[in-house]
Amino acid sequence: MPSMVWLPEGWVPKLVAVDIDGTLTDANKWLHVGAVEALRALEAADIPVIICTGNTRPIAYGLWRFIGLSGPLVCENGGVLWYPDGEVVLRADGREAEAACRWVAEQLPGIDANGIATNRWRESEWCLKTDEDMEAIQALLVESQWSHLTVLRTGFAIHVMDPCLSKGQGLSAVLERLDVLPEDVLAVGDAPNDLSMFDLVGWSVAVGGAFPEVEAAASMCSPEPHGATFPPLVAAILAQKKAEG
Ligand SMILES: [Mg+2]
Repeated sequence: MPSMVWLPEGWVPKLVAVDIDGTLTDANKWLHVGAVEALRALEAADIPVIICTGNTRPIAYGLWRFIGLSGPLVCENGGVLWYPDGEVVLRADGREAEAACRWVAEQLPGIDANGIATNRWRESEWCLKTDEDMEAIQALLVESQWSHLTVLRTGFAIHVMDPCLSKGQGLSAVLERLDVLPEDVLAVGDAPNDLSMFDLVGWSVAVGGAFPEVEAAASMCSPEPHGATFPPLVAAILAQKKAEG
């Protein structure tokens, strides 16, 4: 049963992990300006923000830079990790997924092998358009040399990826490197790809408008839609941090 309060009493996260799409943005993909200001206030209070997204590294990096964040990035649902010192960790090879998709498109005329526009920046997976015939793609791959790859449909694409990739696994690797325990982390998200990160951390918040299974898994469900969650959530964090002294 999700909690009715923003945070456990007296608890202050050491890090905050946030999804982008549907979490910092509204249903039109517009960034919530109040959420941006709230994340800056967290950083000013020495609580680093980690972006955990299905989006690619250049897109996450742009947000990181322009908001003014200091934490690492978990991109492509855990496939790509980036640290502010410039180190990049690729947890899978996207060229393999691309080769698999190009082969599939040869077998199934009509499938667009180039997939979605952000593939040119993808490093750990390849994404076909969301309205392609997923069952046919799956059936072909299972009998091919790429049978170890997973085919997963989200609202915006069919992801062809290494099955070991998840936001939770990517975030776990980052926390180990930062020497921060998962129980000291708060995560905010809206969609099924956030569930692995909710499983990992000490406290999870589902934004208003989240998928029902995400609300069911969260420690608390925000009464505010999407990015409007952040001003009151961050105010609660900063109030407990102040009380802590
Ligand atoms: Mg999302």
